[in-house]
Amino acid sequence: MNQHVPANAPGLENYWMPFTANRQFKAAPRLLASAEGMYYTTVDGRKIIDGSAGLWCVNLGHGRRQISQAVERQLSTLDYAPSFQMGHPIAFDFAEKLAGMSPGGPAAQLDRIFFTGSGSESVDTALKIAIAYQRAIGQGTRTRLIGRERGYHGVGFGGVSVGGIVNNRRVFPQLPGTDHLRHTHDPARNSFSIGLPADGAELADDLERLVVLHGAETIAAVIVEPIAGSTGVLLPPNGYLERLRAICDRHGIILIFDEVITGFGRLGTPFATDYFGVMPDIVTTAKGLTNGAIPMGAVFASRRIHDAMMNGPPDQIELFHGYTYSGHPAACAAGLAAMQIYRDEKLLTRGASLTDHWQKALHGLRGLPHVADIRAIGMLAGIELTPRQATPGTRGYEVFLHCFERGLLVRLTGDIIALSPPLIIEPAQIDEIATILKGALKRVA
Ligand code: PLP
Repeated sequence: MNQHVPANAPGLENYWMPFTANRQFKAAPRLLASAEGMYYTTVDGRKIIDGSAGLWCVNLGHGRRQISQAVERQLSTLDYAPSFQMGHPIAFDFAEKLAGMSPGGPAAQLDRIFFTGSGSESVDTALKIAIAYQRAIGQGTRTRLIGRERGYHGVGFGGVSVGGIVNNRRVFPQLPGTDHLRHTHDPARNSFSIGLPADGAELADDLERLVVLHGAETIAAVIVEPIAGSTGVLLPPNGYLERLRAICDRHGIILIFDEVITGFGRLGTPFATDYFGVMPDIVTTAKGLTNGAIPMGAVFASRRIHDAMMNGPPDQIELFHGYTYSGHPAACAAGLAAMQIYRDEKLLTRGASLTDHWQKALHGLRGLPHVADIRAIGMLAGIELTPRQATPGTRGYEVFLHCFERGLLVRLTGDIIALSPPLIIEPAQIDEIATILKGALKRVA
């Protein structure tokens, strides 16, 4: 057994782990036993600072009693209730609370909320809503969905089809007719940008190319992450999102922002929609919605879209879509408690006051071996390493392992280290992360 696994640890063979090299992991497992605030504790008692908010979701920090107590109270009051043709007050209550803080503020009217169980479900829900809306307004030929290269939209067939990560796509068939914008990552022009990259807004014009290629009357929606998280924190060039919005308007295309990572304070604003001041028609969320404590997602649809779907006979189901766990009472309780903490501790905007320190600390890693680019925005960052030519990904993986050995959890995507700590982080903890990273980067050949 590995040195980090106690003798009484469970066997490892039954759990088929997601997005994991199972055999490599099980040969040298990394097991987390507990968590509090900014830190995990491993099964062998080591403290690990959480540089990634778990999987970009524990925005409020770990071990929030307010959330666990709310969930416990809810489970002992109403553990489950069906959400098809039945309702329970806490789901309406949570939707109303979210509407009061919806992306873009009240003027954007992104305040009709569909609950899901995850980010992937939020994405597939948003794509289906967009297609159903187009049909409801007499645009039934619009079924084509456009994503972007290097986009990650979860693992449902819809999300994989619009996603732009080859390993997630090559084995699986995709929805017919989907197409992709070019990605916006251009290190040759934009490496080590402070703030948004200056060059590349014209990449949004790729949508015009797809309109010419396919015909606007076939395109239902475009989905992008305002900042691509999972492929390495790729920032939109200055003016890119505005341009994408304008092209969507020109051609009657629904614009979906996938804010599963950027939602709930990650950029120092409640949503990326607020940060960029560009209003989409639909916003997908999950992760920070419940602080990761209970799986849940929420799709914010504009009133225009929602209301257009409410025109048929009132006794008819308007959208043939939903999940057994849509609006799950325990998840709503977790979400309500999370929103209370965001509000009480001003965590939806706290990132704005930390971002200078964050950016300085991370840009301070410039010049270390193999560091090819550093991107930092809000409380997000990507550190891109030059890959080893014969074995891409191995350098990043070694940095990840060194960080873990030294007490830091980072997220890894190929040779890019991604950081997105809980929003409760203190400046000294930002320095702690940077110091550990520095040590790890110096060690890796
Ligand atoms: N969309 C984006 C932008 C994401 O980053 C993720 C997960 O990282 C998802 C969708 C999928 O979320 P989930 O893993 O909860 O299904």
